[in-house]
Amino acid sequence: MKSLLKLSDVCYAYHSRSGETCALENISFQVQPGEFIAVVGPSGCGKSTLLSLISGLLIPESGTILFAKREGEGGPPSDFAAGSSADGPVNSALREKIGYMLQKDHLFEWRTVYRNVTLGLEIQHRLDDGGKARIDKMLRDYGLERFRDARPSELSGGMRQRAALIRTLALGPELLLLDEPFSALDFQTRLAVCDDVSAILHREKKTALLVTHDLSEAVSMADRIIILTKRPARIRKIIELNFEQEGLSPLARRSTKEFQEYFNLLWEELNDNE
Ligand code: ADP
Ligand code: MG
Repeated sequence: MKSLLKLSDVCYAYHSRSGETCALENISFQVQPGEFIAVVGPSGCGKSTLLSLISGLLIPESGTILFAKREGEGGPPSDFAAGSSADGPVNSALREKIGYMLQKDHLFEWRTVYRNVTLGLEIQHRLDDGGKARIDKMLRDYGLERFRDARPSELSGGMRQRAALIRTLALGPELLLLDEPFSALDFQTRLAVCDDVSAILHREKKTALLVTHDLSEAVSMADRIIILTKRPARIRKIIELNFEQEGLSPLARRSTKEFQEYFNLLWEELNDNE
């Protein structure tokens, strides 16, 4: 299968007056369409930096980030359109189709739930009948229909996160970058929202990269887990998850024997200071 995204030897350092902080070193991996990848690693190792590089907010110091070519997209004959390298960012059709979701939901209290989820499309002047219909359907499907005229403060933590996800999905992203999006939620809510989000992403056939420091969250949601070392982050190991029973929800995965095995494996990798 053709990869959607390919990172090769990506390095990045922050420069400030007090010196240089090397955040990422020689990061290489590929992402297949429809895959759910979790990225775990010690706090401060460079996980958010990795997502910023993929989204194009930051440019690698060396190495390349390439995106799969869309149908009809020009450029040299290759499966990949340019992404970015030390030479600078190059726009590709796919890069414009990245959705970014952060720990904080960034809902605006002065707008209703409906006008929050339409905001992205509004800004891009794309809020047409098709967009409105898609949003209406997601509000219904994801249990927020009754709250469309409510203010964000009237929603529970889980509902807010679902609203933020709808706003992201409304833009029709093909690749979702999720940076610890559940970490502000209490444990109970987090379990439920993980199930929701996982079902939504599967139904919408999205490709996702989830950064998390919660090992059980990674094991319950991902197809593959990339384990990073402490800063500067290098790839320590990539684990492919295989559950005897396929298509389990994150919550159902938690009570399988494989869950415990993968959790222990991750724990050992992250606590082995070699
Ligand atoms: P993580 O998301 O894994 O916790 P980050 O990618 O946010 O880690 O940060 C990696 C390292 O880079 C940290 O040591 C952090 O202090 C440093 N860092 C992050 N952003 C900046 C910045 N804008 N300027 C300087 N250093 C930064
Ligand atoms: Mg971070």
